[in-house]
Amino acid sequence: MAKYDYDLFVIGAGSGGVRASRVAAAHGAKVAIAEEHKVGGTCVIRGCVPKKLLVYGAHFAEDLADARRFGWEVPETRFNWATLRDNVLTEVTRLEGLYSENLERHEVEIIKQRATVAGPHEIALADGRTVTAGRILVATGATPVVPDFPGAEHGITSNEVFHLDALPKRIVIAGGGYIANEFAGIFHEFGSKVTMVNRSDIILRGYEEALRDRLLQISITKGIDFKFNAAFEKIEKAEDGTLTAYLTGCDPIEADAVLFAIGRRPNTDGLGLENAGVRIDDKGAVVVDADNMSSCDSIHAVGDVTNRVQLTPVAIREGQAFADTIFGDNPTRVDYENIPSAVFSHPPLAGVGLTEGQARDRLGTVKTYTSDFRSMKNVLAGRNERSLYKLVVDGTTDEVVGLHMIGPDAPEILQAAAIAVKAKLKKADFDAVVALHPTMAEELVLMR
Ligand code: NDP
Repeated sequence: MAKYDYDLFVIGAGSGGVRASRVAAAHGAKVAIAEEHKVGGTCVIRGCVPKKLLVYGAHFAEDLADARRFGWEVPETRFNWATLRDNVLTEVTRLEGLYSENLERHEVEIIKQRATVAGPHEIALADGRTVTAGRILVATGATPVVPDFPGAEHGITSNEVFHLDALPKRIVIAGGGYIANEFAGIFHEFGSKVTMVNRSDIILRGYEEALRDRLLQISITKGIDFKFNAAFEKIEKAEDGTLTAYLTGCDPIEADAVLFAIGRRPNTDGLGLENAGVRIDDKGAVVVDADNMSSCDSIHAVGDVTNRVQLTPVAIREGQAFADTIFGDNPTRVDYENIPSAVFSHPPLAGVGLTEGQARDRLGTVKTYTSDFRSMKNVLAGRNERSLYKLVVDGTTDEVVGLHMIGPDAPEILQAAAIAVKAKLKKADFDAVVALHPTMAEELVLMR
Protein backbone atom coordinates (compact mmCIF):
# COMPACT_ATOMS: atom_id res chain seq x y z
CA MET A 1 0.00 0.00 0.00
CA ALA A 2 1.32 3.44 -0.95
CA LYS A 3 1.85 5.71 2.02
CA TYR A 4 0.06 8.63 0.34
CA ASP A 5 -2.77 8.99 -2.20
CA TYR A 6 -0.39 10.82 -4.58
CA ASP A 7 3.34 11.28 -4.94
CA LEU A 8 2.71 14.89 -5.93
CA PHE A 9 -0.28 17.17 -5.46
CA VAL A 10 -0.07 20.45 -7.35
CA ILE A 11 -2.29 23.39 -6.40
CA GLY A 12 -2.81 25.65 -9.41
CA ALA A 13 -2.84 24.66 -13.09
CA GLY A 14 -0.98 27.64 -14.50
CA SER A 15 2.30 27.67 -16.39
CA GLY A 16 4.48 26.46 -13.50
CA GLY A 17 2.03 23.92 -12.08
CA VAL A 18 1.17 22.34 -15.42
CA ARG A 19 4.83 21.92 -16.39
CA ALA A 20 5.75 20.44 -12.99
CA SER A 21 2.82 17.97 -13.06
CA ARG A 22 3.47 16.81 -16.59
CA VAL A 23 7.20 16.31 -16.05
CA ALA A 24 6.79 14.66 -12.63
CA ALA A 25 4.24 12.25 -14.16
CA ALA A 26 6.62 11.50 -17.03
CA HIS A 27 9.24 10.63 -14.39
CA GLY A 28 6.76 8.05 -13.03
CA ALA A 29 5.11 9.97 -10.19
CA LYS A 30 1.41 9.65 -9.40
CA VAL A 31 0.22 13.24 -9.78
CA ALA A 32 -2.96 15.25 -9.20
CA ILE A 33 -3.45 18.91 -9.98
CA ALA A 34 -6.21 21.10 -8.55
CA GLU A 35 -7.55 24.18 -10.34
CA GLU A 36 -10.48 26.28 -9.14
CA HIS A 37 -10.75 28.37 -12.31
CA LYS A 38 -9.51 27.26 -15.74
CA VAL A 39 -6.60 25.04 -16.72
CA GLY A 40 -3.85 27.23 -18.19
CA GLY A 41 -3.57 29.90 -15.52
CA THR A 42 -3.08 33.63 -15.91
CA CYS A 43 -0.86 33.49 -19.00
CA VAL A 44 -3.21 31.43 -21.14
CA ILE A 45 -6.58 32.49 -19.74
CA ARG A 46 -6.23 36.20 -18.86
CA GLY A 47 -2.68 37.28 -19.50
CA CYS A 48 0.06 36.90 -22.10
CA VAL A 49 -1.93 34.99 -24.71
CA PRO A 50 -5.20 36.96 -24.97
CA LYS A 51 -3.20 40.18 -24.41
CA LYS A 52 -0.90 39.42 -27.35
CA LEU A 53 -3.91 38.69 -29.55
CA LEU A 54 -5.35 42.10 -28.61
CA VAL A 55 -1.97 43.67 -29.40
CA TYR A 56 -2.11 42.10 -32.88
CA GLY A 57 -5.68 43.31 -33.28
CA ALA A 58 -4.74 46.82 -32.21
CA HIS A 59 -1.78 47.01 -34.57
CA PHE A 60 -4.08 46.79 -37.58
CA ALA A 61 -5.07 50.39 -36.86
CA GLU A 62 -1.58 51.51 -37.89
CA ASP A 63 -1.18 48.89 -40.62
CA LEU A 64 -4.45 49.90 -42.29
CA ALA A 65 -3.50 53.57 -42.15
CA ASP A 66 0.02 52.91 -43.45
CA ALA A 67 -1.25 50.66 -46.24
CA ARG A 68 -2.56 53.71 -48.09
CA ARG A 69 0.96 55.11 -48.36
CA PHE A 70 1.96 51.76 -49.89
CA GLY A 71 -0.59 52.12 -52.64
CA TRP A 72 -3.56 50.25 -51.20
CA GLU A 73 -6.96 51.81 -51.50
CA VAL A 74 -8.37 51.06 -48.08
CA PRO A 75 -12.05 51.91 -47.66
CA GLU A 76 -13.15 53.50 -44.42
CA THR A 77 -12.35 51.08 -41.62
CA ARG A 78 -14.26 50.38 -38.44
CA PHE A 79 -13.24 48.34 -35.45
CA ASN A 80 -15.65 45.89 -33.83
CA TRP A 81 -14.61 45.08 -30.25
CA ALA A 82 -17.17 42.29 -29.80
CA THR A 83 -15.79 40.37 -32.80
CA LEU A 84 -12.20 40.50 -31.58
CA ARG A 85 -13.16 39.82 -27.95
CA ASP A 86 -15.22 36.75 -28.86
CA ASN A 87 -12.58 35.37 -31.25
CA VAL A 88 -9.90 35.80 -28.60
CA LEU A 89 -12.04 34.12 -25.94
CA THR A 90 -12.76 31.22 -28.32
CA GLU A 91 -9.02 30.77 -28.86
CA VAL A 92 -8.45 30.82 -25.09
CA THR A 93 -11.06 28.06 -24.68
CA ARG A 94 -9.31 26.01 -27.38
CA LEU A 95 -5.97 26.38 -25.60
CA GLU A 96 -7.52 25.46 -22.26
CA GLY A 97 -8.71 22.23 -23.88
CA LEU A 98 -5.23 21.48 -25.22
CA TYR A 99 -3.67 22.04 -21.78
CA SER A 100 -6.19 19.67 -20.17
CA GLU A 101 -5.64 17.04 -22.87
CA ASN A 102 -1.91 17.27 -22.41
CA LEU A 103 -2.22 16.66 -18.67
CA GLU A 104 -4.61 13.76 -19.20
CA ARG A 105 -2.26 12.22 -21.77
CA HIS A 106 0.41 12.19 -19.06
CA GLU A 107 -2.10 10.59 -16.64
CA VAL A 108 -2.22 13.62 -14.37
CA GLU A 109 -5.55 13.67 -12.51
CA ILE A 110 -7.22 17.06 -12.89
CA ILE A 111 -9.32 18.06 -9.89
CA LYS A 112 -11.45 21.06 -10.86
CA GLN A 113 -12.03 22.62 -7.48
CA ARG A 114 -10.27 24.73 -4.88
CA ALA A 115 -7.64 22.94 -2.80
CA THR A 116 -5.96 24.19 0.37
CA VAL A 117 -3.12 22.91 2.49
CA ALA A 118 -4.32 21.06 5.60
CA GLY A 119 -0.91 19.79 6.77
CA PRO A 120 2.58 18.93 5.47
CA HIS A 121 1.11 16.05 3.45
CA GLU A 122 -2.63 16.78 3.54
CA ILE A 123 -4.77 18.71 1.10
CA ALA A 124 -8.35 19.75 1.80
CA LEU A 125 -10.64 19.84 -1.26
CA ALA A 126 -13.67 22.12 -1.60
CA ASP A 127 -15.96 19.07 -1.84
CA GLY A 128 -15.01 18.12 1.73
CA ARG A 129 -12.52 15.35 0.94
CA THR A 130 -8.99 15.30 2.33
CA VAL A 131 -6.26 13.67 0.25
CA THR A 132 -2.59 13.04 1.01
CA ALA A 133 0.60 13.46 -1.00
CA GLY A 134 4.30 12.88 -0.51
CA ARG A 135 4.97 16.37 -1.88
CA ILE A 136 2.75 19.40 -2.36
CA LEU A 137 3.59 22.03 -4.97
CA VAL A 138 2.03 25.46 -4.50
CA ALA A 139 1.70 27.08 -7.93
CA THR A 140 -1.24 29.37 -7.31
CA GLY A 141 0.16 32.41 -9.12
CA ALA A 142 -0.74 35.98 -8.31
CA THR A 143 -3.73 38.25 -8.53
CA PRO A 144 -4.07 41.91 -9.57
CA VAL A 145 -3.83 44.39 -6.70
CA VAL A 146 -7.03 46.43 -6.25
CA PRO A 147 -6.42 49.69 -4.38
CA ASP A 148 -8.44 50.73 -1.38
CA PHE A 149 -10.23 54.08 -1.76
CA PRO A 150 -13.88 55.14 -2.08
CA GLY A 151 -15.35 53.88 -5.36
CA ALA A 152 -12.43 51.57 -6.21
CA GLU A 153 -15.02 48.83 -6.75
CA HIS A 154 -16.07 50.62 -9.97
CA GLY A 155 -12.66 49.84 -11.51
CA ILE A 156 -11.61 46.67 -13.30
CA THR A 157 -8.35 44.72 -13.50
CA SER A 158 -6.66 42.65 -16.19
CA ASN A 159 -8.95 39.79 -15.09
CA GLU A 160 -12.02 41.59 -16.42
CA VAL A 161 -10.59 43.63 -19.27
CA PHE A 162 -10.83 40.78 -21.79
CA HIS A 163 -14.58 40.48 -21.19
CA LEU A 164 -15.72 44.11 -21.54
CA ASP A 165 -19.24 44.39 -23.03
CA ALA A 166 -18.23 47.41 -25.07
CA LEU A 167 -15.08 49.26 -26.00
CA PRO A 168 -14.69 52.16 -23.55
CA LYS A 169 -14.59 55.48 -25.41
CA ARG A 170 -12.50 56.89 -22.54
CA ILE A 171 -10.34 54.80 -20.23
CA VAL A 172 -8.22 55.74 -17.23
CA ILE A 173 -5.39 53.31 -16.54
CA ALA A 174 -3.76 53.31 -13.12
CA GLY A 175 -0.08 52.28 -13.01
CA GLY A 176 2.96 52.70 -15.20
CA GLY A 177 4.19 49.12 -15.50
CA TYR A 178 3.82 46.29 -18.00
CA ILE A 179 0.06 45.95 -18.01
CA ALA A 180 -0.65 49.70 -17.95
CA ASN A 181 1.60 50.41 -20.95
CA GLU A 182 0.42 47.40 -22.94
CA PHE A 183 -3.26 48.24 -22.49
CA ALA A 184 -2.66 51.95 -23.05
CA GLY A 185 -1.32 51.01 -26.50
CA ILE A 186 -4.13 48.55 -27.17
CA PHE A 187 -6.99 50.90 -26.26
CA HIS A 188 -5.38 53.89 -27.95
CA GLU A 189 -5.12 51.96 -31.23
CA PHE A 190 -8.76 50.89 -30.91
CA GLY A 191 -9.67 54.58 -30.71
CA SER A 192 -10.26 55.04 -26.98
CA LYS A 193 -9.11 58.21 -25.23
CA VAL A 194 -6.47 56.89 -22.81
CA THR A 195 -5.28 58.61 -19.64
CA MET A 196 -2.50 56.96 -17.64
CA VAL A 197 -2.30 57.79 -13.95
CA ASN A 198 0.89 56.89 -12.12
CA ARG A 199 1.88 57.46 -8.52
CA SER A 200 5.47 58.31 -9.53
CA ASP A 201 6.92 59.96 -12.64
CA ILE A 202 8.64 56.78 -13.81
CA ILE A 203 7.14 54.26 -16.20
CA LEU A 204 8.45 50.72 -16.55
CA ARG A 205 10.82 50.95 -13.61
CA GLY A 206 13.79 48.64 -14.15
CA TYR A 207 13.94 49.04 -17.92
CA GLU A 208 16.71 51.00 -19.65
CA GLU A 209 16.03 54.70 -19.14
CA ALA A 210 16.56 55.68 -22.79
CA LEU A 211 13.85 53.20 -23.86
CA ARG A 212 11.41 54.37 -21.21
CA ASP A 213 11.91 57.97 -22.31
CA ARG A 214 11.38 56.98 -25.95
CA LEU A 215 8.14 55.09 -25.21
CA LEU A 216 6.85 58.00 -23.16
CA GLN A 217 7.65 60.49 -25.92
CA ILE A 218 6.03 58.31 -28.62
CA SER A 219 2.97 57.64 -26.44
CA ILE A 220 2.47 61.36 -25.73
CA THR A 221 2.90 62.19 -29.42
CA LYS A 222 0.24 59.62 -30.26
CA GLY A 223 -2.19 61.30 -27.91
CA ILE A 224 -2.03 59.22 -24.73
CA ASP A 225 -2.37 61.50 -21.72
CA PHE A 226 -0.13 61.00 -18.66
CA LYS A 227 -0.80 62.17 -15.11
CA PHE A 228 2.31 61.66 -12.99
CA ASN A 229 2.75 61.83 -9.22
CA ALA A 230 -1.02 61.49 -8.97
CA ALA A 231 -3.03 59.43 -6.52
CA PHE A 232 -6.69 58.45 -6.66
CA GLU A 233 -8.92 60.08 -4.07
CA LYS A 234 -12.19 58.48 -5.19
CA ILE A 235 -14.18 57.26 -8.17
CA GLU A 236 -17.83 58.21 -8.55
CA LYS A 237 -20.28 56.43 -10.83
CA ALA A 238 -23.14 58.36 -12.41
CA GLU A 239 -26.51 56.82 -13.29
CA ASP A 240 -25.56 56.58 -16.96
CA GLY A 241 -22.47 54.56 -15.99
CA THR A 242 -19.97 57.39 -16.47
CA LEU A 243 -17.12 57.20 -13.99
CA THR A 244 -15.37 60.27 -12.61
CA ALA A 245 -11.89 59.76 -11.22
CA TYR A 246 -10.80 62.31 -8.64
CA LEU A 247 -7.02 62.58 -8.40
CA THR A 248 -4.64 64.62 -6.29
CA GLY A 249 -3.41 67.70 -8.12
CA CYS A 250 -5.49 67.17 -11.31
CA ASP A 251 -8.93 68.06 -12.53
CA PRO A 252 -11.43 65.17 -12.27
CA ILE A 253 -11.38 62.86 -15.29
CA GLU A 254 -14.51 61.32 -16.80
CA ALA A 255 -14.19 57.83 -18.21
CA ASP A 256 -16.17 54.78 -19.24
CA ALA A 257 -13.71 52.41 -17.54
CA VAL A 258 -10.91 52.58 -14.99
CA LEU A 259 -8.31 49.80 -15.23
CA PHE A 260 -6.07 49.10 -12.24
CA ALA A 261 -2.64 47.82 -13.29
CA ILE A 262 -0.63 48.47 -10.15
CA GLY A 263 1.10 45.15 -9.65
CA ARG A 264 0.13 41.60 -8.73
CA ARG A 265 0.00 40.01 -5.27
CA PRO A 266 0.90 36.34 -4.66
CA ASN A 267 -2.17 34.12 -4.20
CA THR A 268 -1.66 32.78 -0.68
CA ASP A 269 -4.71 34.14 1.15
CA GLY A 270 -6.75 31.34 2.69
CA LEU A 271 -4.45 28.67 1.27
CA GLY A 272 -3.89 27.08 4.69
CA LEU A 273 -0.11 27.29 4.44
CA GLU A 274 0.09 28.05 8.16
CA ASN A 275 -1.20 24.49 8.77
CA ALA A 276 2.15 23.20 7.54
CA GLY A 277 4.40 25.94 8.93
CA VAL A 278 5.12 27.40 5.47
CA ARG A 279 6.75 30.80 5.82
CA ILE A 280 5.22 33.70 3.88
CA ASP A 281 6.93 37.08 3.44
CA ASP A 282 5.43 40.53 4.01
CA LYS A 283 4.15 40.65 0.40
CA GLY A 284 2.30 37.33 0.83
CA ALA A 285 4.84 35.32 -1.20
CA VAL A 286 5.89 31.77 -0.28
CA VAL A 287 9.53 31.94 0.81
CA VAL A 288 11.54 29.26 -1.01
CA ASP A 289 15.18 28.25 -1.35
CA ALA A 290 17.09 27.79 -4.62
CA ASP A 291 15.40 24.39 -5.00
CA ASN A 292 11.91 25.85 -4.65
CA MET A 293 11.50 24.29 -1.20
CA SER A 294 9.49 26.18 1.41
CA SER A 295 10.18 26.17 5.14
CA CYS A 296 8.22 22.87 5.23
CA ASP A 297 10.35 20.31 3.39
CA SER A 298 7.43 18.46 1.78
CA ILE A 299 5.99 21.68 0.32
CA HIS A 300 7.51 23.48 -2.64
CA ALA A 301 6.41 26.52 -4.62
CA VAL A 302 7.09 27.84 -8.11
CA GLY A 303 6.02 30.79 -10.23
CA ASP A 304 4.39 34.09 -9.30
CA VAL A 305 3.33 32.85 -5.84
CA THR A 306 7.02 33.05 -4.89
CA ASN A 307 7.30 36.64 -6.25
CA ARG A 308 10.79 36.13 -7.67
CA VAL A 309 10.48 36.96 -11.37
CA GLN A 310 6.81 37.26 -12.38
CA LEU A 311 7.22 35.90 -15.91
CA THR A 312 5.65 32.80 -17.46
CA PRO A 313 8.82 31.29 -18.95
CA VAL A 314 10.50 31.58 -15.55
CA ALA A 315 7.60 29.78 -13.84
CA ILE A 316 7.84 27.04 -16.47
CA ARG A 317 11.56 26.61 -15.82
CA GLU A 318 10.97 26.52 -12.06
CA GLY A 319 8.29 23.84 -12.51
CA GLN A 320 10.59 21.80 -14.74
CA ALA A 321 13.55 22.15 -12.32
CA PHE A 322 11.37 21.12 -9.38
CA ALA A 323 10.08 18.00 -11.16
CA ASP A 324 13.50 16.99 -12.49
CA THR A 325 15.12 17.49 -9.08
CA ILE A 326 12.53 15.69 -6.96
CA PHE A 327 11.16 13.03 -9.32
CA GLY A 328 13.78 12.74 -12.07
CA ASP A 329 16.88 12.22 -9.95
CA ASN A 330 18.42 15.14 -11.84
CA PRO A 331 19.12 18.10 -9.51
CA THR A 332 18.47 21.24 -11.54
CA ARG A 333 18.41 24.92 -10.61
CA VAL A 334 17.04 27.83 -12.60
CA ASP A 335 19.62 30.33 -13.82
CA TYR A 336 18.13 33.77 -13.24
CA GLU A 337 20.89 35.68 -15.01
CA ASN A 338 20.15 37.45 -18.30
CA ILE A 339 16.43 36.75 -18.50
CA PRO A 340 15.06 38.57 -21.55
CA SER A 341 11.77 40.40 -21.14
CA ALA A 342 9.50 42.55 -23.28
CA VAL A 343 6.66 44.99 -23.01
CA PHE A 344 4.14 44.67 -25.85
CA SER A 345 3.42 48.36 -25.96
CA HIS A 346 2.97 50.32 -29.21
CA PRO A 347 5.80 50.17 -30.23
CA PRO A 348 7.08 47.25 -28.18
CA LEU A 349 10.29 47.30 -26.20
CA ALA A 350 12.55 44.52 -24.94
CA GLY A 351 15.71 44.10 -22.96
CA VAL A 352 18.21 41.59 -21.61
CA GLY A 353 21.07 42.00 -19.16
CA LEU A 354 22.21 45.17 -17.44
CA THR A 355 20.88 48.64 -18.12
CA GLU A 356 23.51 51.33 -18.51
CA GLY A 357 22.83 52.53 -14.95
CA GLN A 358 23.19 49.03 -13.48
CA ALA A 359 26.39 48.43 -15.46
CA ARG A 360 27.91 51.71 -14.22
CA ASP A 361 27.12 50.70 -10.62
CA ARG A 362 28.65 47.25 -10.99
CA LEU A 363 31.49 47.44 -13.50
CA GLY A 364 34.71 49.45 -13.72
CA THR A 365 34.29 50.96 -17.14
CA VAL A 366 31.24 50.84 -19.35
CA LYS A 367 30.87 51.63 -23.03
CA THR A 368 27.51 52.16 -24.68
CA TYR A 369 26.55 52.10 -28.34
CA THR A 370 23.23 53.36 -29.62
CA SER A 371 21.40 53.35 -32.89
CA ASP A 372 18.55 55.84 -33.15
CA PHE A 373 16.80 55.33 -36.47
CA ARG A 374 13.51 55.42 -38.32
CA SER A 375 12.66 52.09 -39.92
CA MET A 376 12.32 52.34 -43.71
CA LYS A 377 8.71 51.18 -43.43
CA ASN A 378 7.95 54.04 -41.06
CA VAL A 379 9.71 56.48 -43.38
CA LEU A 380 7.54 55.58 -46.38
CA ALA A 381 4.45 55.44 -44.19
CA GLY A 382 5.18 58.99 -43.04
CA ARG A 383 5.19 57.74 -39.47
CA ASN A 384 7.52 59.89 -37.41
CA GLU A 385 8.37 57.16 -34.91
CA ARG A 386 12.01 56.35 -34.23
CA SER A 387 13.47 53.09 -32.94
CA LEU A 388 16.29 52.99 -30.42
CA TYR A 389 18.75 50.14 -29.86
CA LYS A 390 21.37 50.26 -27.13
CA LEU A 391 24.28 47.97 -26.39
CA VAL A 392 25.91 48.11 -22.95
CA VAL A 393 29.46 46.79 -23.01
CA ASP A 394 31.95 46.03 -20.22
CA GLY A 395 34.79 48.39 -21.09
CA THR A 396 37.39 46.07 -19.59
CA THR A 397 36.39 42.74 -21.15
CA ASP A 398 34.48 43.96 -24.25
CA GLU A 399 31.61 41.65 -23.20
CA VAL A 400 28.11 42.78 -24.19
CA VAL A 401 26.37 42.86 -20.80
CA GLY A 402 23.11 44.46 -21.86
CA LEU A 403 20.95 44.91 -24.94
CA HIS A 404 17.86 47.10 -25.05
CA MET A 405 15.56 47.83 -27.96
CA ILE A 406 12.37 49.75 -28.71
CA GLY A 407 10.80 49.63 -32.14
CA PRO A 408 8.81 47.37 -34.47
CA ASP A 409 9.34 43.66 -33.69
CA ALA A 410 11.85 44.47 -30.90
CA PRO A 411 10.82 41.40 -28.80
CA GLU A 412 11.19 39.07 -31.81
CA ILE A 413 14.66 40.41 -32.57
CA LEU A 414 15.77 40.52 -28.97
CA GLN A 415 14.91 36.86 -28.31
CA ALA A 416 17.56 35.83 -30.85
CA ALA A 417 20.08 38.46 -29.78
CA ALA A 418 19.65 37.44 -26.13
CA ILE A 419 21.45 34.18 -26.99
CA ALA A 420 24.57 36.22 -27.75
CA VAL A 421 24.29 38.14 -24.48
CA LYS A 422 23.67 34.94 -22.51
CA ALA A 423 26.67 33.36 -24.22
CA LYS A 424 28.74 36.35 -23.04
CA LEU A 425 29.81 37.28 -26.56
CA LYS A 426 31.93 40.37 -27.01
CA LYS A 427 31.23 43.54 -28.94
CA ALA A 428 33.90 42.39 -31.40
CA ASP A 429 31.79 39.24 -32.08
CA PHE A 430 28.80 41.43 -32.93
CA ASP A 431 31.01 43.58 -35.19
CA ALA A 432 32.34 40.48 -36.98
CA VAL A 433 28.87 39.54 -38.25
CA VAL A 434 27.97 40.79 -41.72
CA ALA A 435 24.80 42.88 -41.73
CA LEU A 436 21.63 41.36 -43.19
CA HIS A 437 20.37 44.20 -45.33
CA PRO A 438 17.85 45.76 -45.33
CA THR A 439 16.53 44.87 -41.88
CA MET A 440 16.11 46.73 -38.61
CA ALA A 441 18.09 44.04 -36.78
CA GLU A 442 21.20 44.79 -38.83
CA GLU A 443 21.69 47.81 -36.57
CA LEU A 444 22.85 45.32 -33.93
CA VAL A 445 26.05 44.62 -35.86
CA LEU A 446 26.54 48.15 -37.21
CA MET A 447 26.85 50.15 -34.00
CA ARG A 448 30.29 51.73 -33.79
P1 NDP B 1 4.26 46.31 -12.61
O1 NDP B 1 4.99 45.82 -11.43
O2 NDP B 1 4.86 46.16 -13.96
O3 NDP B 1 3.97 47.87 -12.42
C1 NDP B 1 3.23 48.32 -11.33
C2 NDP B 1 2.97 49.80 -11.53
O4 NDP B 1 2.02 50.23 -10.57
C3 NDP B 1 4.21 50.65 -11.36
O5 NDP B 1 4.12 51.74 -12.25
C4 NDP B 1 4.11 51.12 -9.92
O6 NDP B 1 4.65 52.39 -9.73
C5 NDP B 1 2.60 51.21 -9.72
N1 NDP B 1 2.16 50.88 -8.37
C6 NDP B 1 2.60 49.89 -7.59
N2 NDP B 1 1.92 49.86 -6.43
C7 NDP B 1 1.03 50.87 -6.48
C8 NDP B 1 0.06 51.36 -5.59
N3 NDP B 1 -0.14 50.80 -4.41
N4 NDP B 1 -0.69 52.42 -5.98
C9 NDP B 1 -0.49 53.00 -7.19
N5 NDP B 1 0.43 52.57 -8.07
C10 NDP B 1 1.18 51.53 -7.72
O7 NDP B 1 2.81 45.65 -12.49
P2 NDP B 1 1.70 45.23 -13.55
O8 NDP B 1 0.44 45.15 -12.79
O9 NDP B 1 1.77 46.08 -14.77
O10 NDP B 1 2.16 43.76 -13.98
C11 NDP B 1 2.34 42.77 -12.97
C12 NDP B 1 3.43 41.81 -13.37
O11 NDP B 1 2.97 40.98 -14.41
C13 NDP B 1 4.67 42.49 -13.94
O12 NDP B 1 5.58 42.84 -12.93
C14 NDP B 1 5.22 41.45 -14.87
O13 NDP B 1 6.11 40.65 -14.15
C15 NDP B 1 4.01 40.64 -15.28
N6 NDP B 1 3.64 40.98 -16.67
C16 NDP B 1 4.53 40.73 -17.67
C17 NDP B 1 4.22 41.04 -18.97
C18 NDP B 1 5.21 40.78 -20.04
O14 NDP B 1 6.14 40.01 -19.82
N7 NDP B 1 5.08 41.40 -21.22
C19 NDP B 1 2.93 41.66 -19.33
C20 NDP B 1 2.09 41.90 -18.21
C21 NDP B 1 2.44 41.57 -16.93
P3 NDP B 1 6.19 52.61 -9.34
O15 NDP B 1 7.04 52.02 -10.41
O16 NDP B 1 6.32 54.09 -9.25
O17 NDP B 1 6.40 51.91 -8.04
